[in-house]
Amino acid sequence: MEYDDLYNQPQRPKYDCLLFDLDDTLYPLSTGLATSCLKNIKDYMIEEMGIEASKIPDLCNVLYKNYGTTMAGLRAIGYDFDHDEYHRFVHGRLPYDKLKPDPVLRHLLLSLPLRRLIFTNADKIHAAKALRRLGLEDCFEGIICFETLNPRETCPASDDESENEASIQNQREGIFDILEHFSQPNAGSKLPKTPIICKPSEFAIEKALKIANINPQKTIFFDDSVRNIQSGKRVGLHTVLVGTSHRVKGADYALESIHNIREALPELWDGEGKSDVQYKGKVAIETFVTA
Ligand SMILES: [Mg+2]
Repeated sequence: MEYDDLYNQPQRPKYDCLLFDLDDTLYPLSTGLATSCLKNIKDYMIEEMGIEASKIPDLCNVLYKNYGTTMAGLRAIGYDFDHDEYHRFVHGRLPYDKLKPDPVLRHLLLSLPLRRLIFTNADKIHAAKALRRLGLEDCFEGIICFETLNPRETCPASDDESENEASIQNQREGIFDILEHFSQPNAGSKLPKTPIICKPSEFAIEKALKIANINPQKTIFFDDSVRNIQSGKRVGLHTVLVGTSHRVKGADYALESIHNIREALPELWDGEGKSDVQYKGKVAIETFVTA
């Protein structure tokens, strides 16, 4: 009987790594950065791509839904543009002053005896800037960001501005009309593929895990996006949905705020979360921009 009891006891999960999304996960949605970001994306589509303003809200929704990010969707339907320029436009003018140092979170993170990494779809400049504003720039071993999953040589887009403008003019003819596609009653699921690798694609998550030498079974993934969490669960990660206390399918935990991490997962501090697998030095991922 005693043996049965022992066998029936669930095995305590052992964690050796924490993987954090950045935006709206390490700081609350209420800062308004996400709203500004969406506005900048829409402005980019109007000003730099010449897309009709009336089509923008629907187009953004459809692209985001089908490709993970609007940017990935724009590349899929045929727009070619410089990724750095896009990021500069979309993130460069965000109201970063709304992000304030968070010493409470900093203390929580630094007291965790586990590997900690950032996994964001944003570019490395944004990630470094946001983390610096939050006072968390030295709380992570590394940042897996847009550039990590989409190195320039594998994802060419013209970086010459005049060439870009000309090519956008030329491209317009060849753009896949995705709104028209979905307006058809029997719209098939066949959509053009994007060259951009980003969450929530399972391929993107698996690639990130491989680059950073992360074992999903020993890792907890924190993200404010339900679909990112659900993809994370499918690749074997333990998952924490952040920003709501309502747990959804695919989320092992739900935290209203990342500050609640100690209450929800006190075992992370008790030393037993530490793995017997030794972490072997540095990994080849994007690290902080310190210059
Ligand atoms: Mg997020």
